[in-house]
Amino acid sequence: MYSLFTMLAYTLPLVLSEMPEPVDLTHTYDEDTLHFSVYRSFNLTKVYMQGVNTFFSSNDFQTAEHLGTHMDAPYHFNPDGVRVDEILVSRFIGQAVIVDLRTKAQADPEYLVTPEDFIGWERRYGPIPKGAIIILDFGWAVKYTNPQEFFGTANINDYTTYRFPGLSVAGARWLINTGRVYGVGTDTASIDCGRSTDFPAHKVLSKTTIYNLEMVALPKEPLPPTGFQIAALPMKIREGTGAPVRILAIPNPFLQHTNMPL
Ligand SMILES: [Zn+2]
Repeated sequence: MYSLFTMLAYTLPLVLSEMPEPVDLTHTYDEDTLHFSVYRSFNLTKVYMQGVNTFFSSNDFQTAEHLGTHMDAPYHFNPDGVRVDEILVSRFIGQAVIVDLRTKAQADPEYLVTPEDFIGWERRYGPIPKGAIIILDFGWAVKYTNPQEFFGTANINDYTTYRFPGLSVAGARWLINTGRVYGVGTDTASIDCGRSTDFPAHKVLSKTTIYNLEMVALPKEPLPPTGFQIAALPMKIREGTGAPVRILAIPNPFLQHTNMPL
């Protein structure tokens, strides 16, 4: 019989070799950056582009907090929740858990992720690691360049018409109950499905210290299910309800899963 150690020894180098370099999981911020219809767009002004004997450049920009690839602080939906500048920085770097929901979202573009999806992930890849950053891969990031497809509507200026998949309340509760999750991310515009107008998954998660990552720019080639780290570093906005965030997938130099038996 194969021991768990033998199994890991065979599968981990394979998983790691699939991602030799860090991968940027961030959409670029520019005037086309997507956002819910209630927010202002990203706007950049080139202010100084002159110099006598030297090149000098500088820009001003205006942005909504919740736009493009961004983080939701618990305060976004909970008046007692922590703000973005108050989140412990140790929670910005965690163990990657990529949940492949592409087939389900293709069959049902309003699919809601259930506890069974996470239980199925654990059955295949082991327990959700301590300090996990969960990323829901709906295969949605490739739609980002087409706003109508990304929001699932012909009228992107009316958020009540949005249609895309999301996380169920039961799924959110299941993740909270593991006690091991730092953050929950999605490649769609929101943790809640597009049809939602009362944002129940946001509300449930905001009662905890878990932050959300939205519009995560997952690559076309799916990331390995686990075995690497994610760093999500938001702009440190005082009392921010959220912020633009740079997200990286980073290969583990060593096996650092805290709850893997060795
Ligand atoms: Zn948000």
